[in-house]
Amino acid sequence: MPLDGKIPSGPLSAKWDKHKFDSKLVNPANKRKFDVIVVGSGLAGASAAASLAELGYKVQCFCFQDSPRRAHSIAAQGGINAAKNYPNDGDSIQRLFYDTIKGGDFRAREANVYRLAQVSGNIIDQCVAQGVPFAREYGGLLSNRSFGGAQVSRTFYARGQTGQQLLLGAYQALSRQIGLGAVQMFPRTEMLDLVVIEGQAKGIVVRNLVTGEITSHAADAVVLATGGYGNVFFLSTNAKGCNVTATWRAYKKGAFFANPCYTQIHPTCIPVSGEHQSKLTLMSESLRNDGRVWVPKRKEDCSKPPSSIPDSDRDYFLERKYPSFGNLAPRDISSRSAKEVCDEGRGVGPGGLGVYLDFADSIKRLSLNVVRERYGNLFDMYEKITGENAYEVPMRIYPAVHYTMGGSWVDYNLMSNLPGLFVLGEANFSDHGANRLGASALMQGLADGYFVLPYTIGHYFASAKPAKAPVSHPEFKKTEESVRVLTQKLLSIKGKRTPTSLHRELGKLLWEKCGMSRNEAGLKEALKRIPELRAEFWKNVNVTGENGELNQSLEYAGRVADFMEFAELLCLDALHRRESCGGHFRQEFQTPDGEAKRDDENFSYVAAWEYQGSNQQPTMHKEALVYEEVHMSTRSYK
Ligand SMILES: Cc1cc2nc3c(=O)[nH]c(=O)nc-3n(C[C@H](O)[C@H](O)[C@H](O)COP(=O)(O)OP(=O)(O)OC[C@H]3O[C@@H](n4cnc5c(N)ncnc54)[C@H](O)[C@@H]3O)c2cc1C
Repeated sequence: MPLDGKIPSGPLSAKWDKHKFDSKLVNPANKRKFDVIVVGSGLAGASAAASLAELGYKVQCFCFQDSPRRAHSIAAQGGINAAKNYPNDGDSIQRLFYDTIKGGDFRAREANVYRLAQVSGNIIDQCVAQGVPFAREYGGLLSNRSFGGAQVSRTFYARGQTGQQLLLGAYQALSRQIGLGAVQMFPRTEMLDLVVIEGQAKGIVVRNLVTGEITSHAADAVVLATGGYGNVFFLSTNAKGCNVTATWRAYKKGAFFANPCYTQIHPTCIPVSGEHQSKLTLMSESLRNDGRVWVPKRKEDCSKPPSSIPDSDRDYFLERKYPSFGNLAPRDISSRSAKEVCDEGRGVGPGGLGVYLDFADSIKRLSLNVVRERYGNLFDMYEKITGENAYEVPMRIYPAVHYTMGGSWVDYNLMSNLPGLFVLGEANFSDHGANRLGASALMQGLADGYFVLPYTIGHYFASAKPAKAPVSHPEFKKTEESVRVLTQKLLSIKGKRTPTSLHRELGKLLWEKCGMSRNEAGLKEALKRIPELRAEFWKNVNVTGENGELNQSLEYAGRVADFMEFAELLCLDALHRRESCGGHFRQEFQTPDGEAKRDDENFSYVAAWEYQGSNQQPTMHKEALVYEEVHMSTRSYK
């Protein structure tokens, strides 16, 4: 079935304005008649919940943390893009749009990306009005720096804590609405299923993580803003709680899952230091503004102290291979280049899985104080984890799983194929194609929540006029029962392996067979092994504790159970996509100089998968990517 993205007609630059004008409105007095459930209180969820409540809708907002403030968004470091062109260096909406489409290797929907660039400036104005302390120039103007895949400086930042400051802004707006009674907040509450009645999303079933109570919540629309699934790889830069449960369980209720194989591997993370590790730490891409990436030219030099290796014996491989973008080549390309030099035996540090990120030149050029001013908290974090002072010796970095471009399929209105189910932020697939450029996730999450959903959800209410379904409806009762049965099943197995050990094994398999580079044989091996591992999980997992108490082993086991199923879809998607694009690098499809080789003739589409039942092959639907104004070209950063 071809999928309709509901892209408005007309010239690209006029689509969003025209669409807003054509959209039906809900009269202010009628807005309070509509209930909206927002699952997630990160940047996408908090901004959506606050904006919808401000408009007058009745909102219930859910998160599994103890406070909305602890959503994973708080970890975002480097910045948020916007086409303000404050540095006067040639930026524009068109350029931000084009960079983002090109950065995504021409696998994103053109109209969505243009809209994202259009509203980017509004986000900054909104956040400044909230008091977000963005870095400023001496004269007071907001300061900008560069991120990968761009030749202009358009990234707004608050030191290395941009996500934290933006989330505090959104949280204030949310708190105001909680105080006014317009948002009812449910922290420590996990959505465990979506309720669909006559094909429309009507509510959710949740578990109170403190008491274990399972309850239903009904609404006229359900908004999932539940973040990304990078933790399917076990080791990632994501917060430990990030998971796929909400979008996966929605998938099993009929919401299509798009491009699950598009995973972003970030080039600058602290290398893995041993088997004991349960998460990896990002060193923000902003560091590549001033840090130079290199490895020794000769294998024999890899164990020498870096300071003893003269410049002439160093390979600044990004500057060498991509002279126009240098150290700010996009993430997929930079990650693969780092892997390549390590595979050649020129990696540094334990196991040879590391490259240097060196600030010596910048410290000489700018002074230590300036470098500390820009990146001090990142240097401190690096020292705490590695015990090394990066002002004196280069940082060691290596690529790690960081972000997931795939997610629930949504149309231009951010609505899934299930009427009434909207998906925002990292949880949807919408704007980044096969590779996300740095500083664009925060932009997308806030665009979705502050500036897109408030318009499109109103149109849904006014045009579809969805009928109410109370929680006494049998479908809610049936769904509650299935959640109870699943919870009891997890607790009753009492096997020998911890959820962590099974998750680690799954993650390792995915990293090896479906990580930075993939091939048909490896993917087939993974597809054979995943069902075996899943069977082992259901036979041998040991979930400690009980249901009626705070039980993190139980919470985690439920999320791992979903990863065990989802991993198979991820590999299936990677196997079917017989091309390389962005973060999806199939070894069989590369140019003679090792770059990703796209196949636009056969694969310029979004792959949206439809669940067909357990152990059944899902059905793939295609949304053709039709570019009206952009010419699809081979990406070059040389
Ligand atoms: C270390 C790090 C640094 C980053 N730095 C940057 C950066 O500088 N710039 C940039 O643009 N991007 C950055 N990113 C990416 C960016 O942080 C994320 O993509 C973005 O914050 C995701 O926001 P979100 O609102 O979609 O989801 P999240 O912030 O992950 O929020 C998800 C919410 O959903 C809730 N939730 C999830 N599942 C359930 C469930 N089943 N039931 C109830 N609640 C649920 C959670 O409780 C949470 O409130 C970074 C990512 C990492 C890992």
